[in-house]
Amino acid sequence: HDVLLEVKGLRTHFSTDTGEVRAVDGVDLAIRRGRTLCVVGESGCGKSVTARSILQLVEPPGRVVGGQVLLHRDGRGGEPAETVDLAALGTRDRRIRQVRGRDIAMIFQEPMASLSLVHRIGNQIGEAIRVHNPVSRKEARRLGIALLAQVGIPGPERLVDAYPFQMSGGMRQRVMIAMALSCEPALLIADEPTTALDVTTQAQILDLLAELQETRGMAMMFITHDMGVVTEIADDVAVMYLGSLVEKGPVDDVFHAPRHPYTRALLESVPRMGGARRARLPAIRGSVPDPARRPSGCVFRDRCDHAMPGRCDVTVPPPVALEDGRQVRCLLYGGDGGPARGVQGPPA
Ligand code: SF4
Ligand code: MG
Repeated sequence: HDVLLEVKGLRTHFSTDTGEVRAVDGVDLAIRRGRTLCVVGESGCGKSVTARSILQLVEPPGRVVGGQVLLHRDGRGGEPAETVDLAALGTRDRRIRQVRGRDIAMIFQEPMASLSLVHRIGNQIGEAIRVHNPVSRKEARRLGIALLAQVGIPGPERLVDAYPFQMSGGMRQRVMIAMALSCEPALLIADEPTTALDVTTQAQILDLLAELQETRGMAMMFITHDMGVVTEIADDVAVMYLGSLVEKGPVDDVFHAPRHPYTRALLESVPRMGGARRARLPAIRGSVPDPARRPSGCVFRDRCDHAMPGRCDVTVPPPVALEDGRQVRCLLYGGDGGPARGVQGPPA
């Protein structure tokens, strides 16, 4: 099986005092073994909620209300290969706890979401190792030091006894990555892990993740709002807007010839390095609507220059398969098979 994780029709809602907010509204994704999928979109578009929904980490008032999250296990350690629907498991189910950290690990923007300030990092990594592996404390410590070395911690024999509060943000992020890798997950979900770091550290952590992903043959789902990061590390990209996935496909294809008007606008807003367009251009007019007041029809229609009255405000665009495994949700495409109104090709 080339595909490790399939998300089908995922819907996650939050009950609020203004009504039901559809934070994730019918998302389909596939993550291939050993590949990196970047999920990109503006803040609040549902990227993080999608990631948390995969691992059943959504807390009330949010809940996964529909869809499937199919994990295709390849049967390591003599176990049979099997497919598990994670969306069918409860948030505290024994089986989902097994999946977390063993099949799928997650790292966050803020390393302190997974680290305790007041415990030595060696003990924390050791505990993470011992959750799924029956090894002695001494052996866990040895494995922890090896992991710290792998994630580029200088002098790991000494730093294994340090506390997180003694470390820089970049070093803490490396420790969090070491902890995530401790059980050799088949998939690492990284939710904006470099966003809080300075530019140099950000580049180092990205390089590290790309290297670990490659040498371990691990799949990665990388969540970011930064198109630059996507070009650095993605094999595939999925573009989200207001809880919907509007376009996905191989990153080179999507970035060379974005099809969805939102993808095109996002790419136009990226500053060109070294050119006159250094400043971030306001390429997308208007702002993201309140998720509690989703527009009818196409979620992007209030901001779309191609919106067709009588169509885009009425019909929810179905996913349309284009060339190269590309998929787009926009009424300009499909129906009679191809793009209807010549928005093909890169932005002018
Ligand atoms: Fe624009 Fe209509 Fe396509 Fe939505 S469906 S992106 S409003 S053209
Ligand atoms: Mg987020």
